[in-house]
Amino acid sequence: MKRKGILIVVSGFSGAGKGTLVKRLVEKYDSYALSISATTRQPRAGEEDGREYFFLQKEQFERKIAENGLIEYACYCDNYYGTPREYVERQLADGKDVILEIEIQGALKIKEQYKDALLLFVMPPSTAELRRRLVGRGTETEEVIAKRMRRAAEEAEGIEKYEYIVVNDDLETCVTQLHEIIIAAHNTPNRNQEFIENIRTELEGEK
Ligand code: ADP
Ligand code: 5GP
Repeated sequence: MKRKGILIVVSGFSGAGKGTLVKRLVEKYDSYALSISATTRQPRAGEEDGREYFFLQKEQFERKIAENGLIEYACYCDNYYGTPREYVERQLADGKDVILEIEIQGALKIKEQYKDALLLFVMPPSTAELRRRLVGRGTETEEVIAKRMRRAAEEAEGIEKYEYIVVNDDLETCVTQLHEIIIAAHNTPNRNQEFIENIRTELEGEK
């Protein structure tokens, strides 16, 4: 039986450590493919076009939307972010588990289109630690940090829409937990419908 890839959505408040976590996950295990999103926000120091994001002008991004080149997109803190279609569909067909590190509006759009998608939410150990990480990253102005903390308060309302939460306290523990959840998710009946139907059909002959 060919292994089927799962679409895995990882969301969480800005600064919770999603980026760090998924980077470590794909380094540690080779069954994952990490989707690179497109965005209209400015690159941070050290970020490279085509590595962290495809950095686009607003007009370029809107053209991608019009061409149906994104499987979802959303506006987050005044910028567009979206998931390019081609890479995701190719990797899933290849049997890879594809990771989308995206915010909540996008996550819900994915669930509408891909009913077997697995939705995971990364929690910080506490709000104080969240703020410490966001400030400590040193990539945003005070004003942007305040905006992201306000957005976190809104996003917190939607956590129950996700299947699992993982608490990113110790990074390595959290990476292992994430991987174990994904392994277990491969064995749910809804993600193995074809296999189940085949056995049922074969068993018909035993009646
Ligand atoms: P996000 O992608 O969720 O916005 P990042 O991955 O950029 O968050 O992490 C925010 C900051 O927190 C970074 O400086 C990162 O090094 C740090 N960080 C991430 N995970 C942990 C952890 N488990 N313990 C301590 N610091 C962490
Ligand atoms: P950042 O600017 O910190 O890189 O990302 C801001 C937010 O946008 C994060 O919550 C991140 O998960 C989300 N994000 C990144 N890429 C995408 C995407 O392709 N689609 C959606 N909907 N959100 C994204």
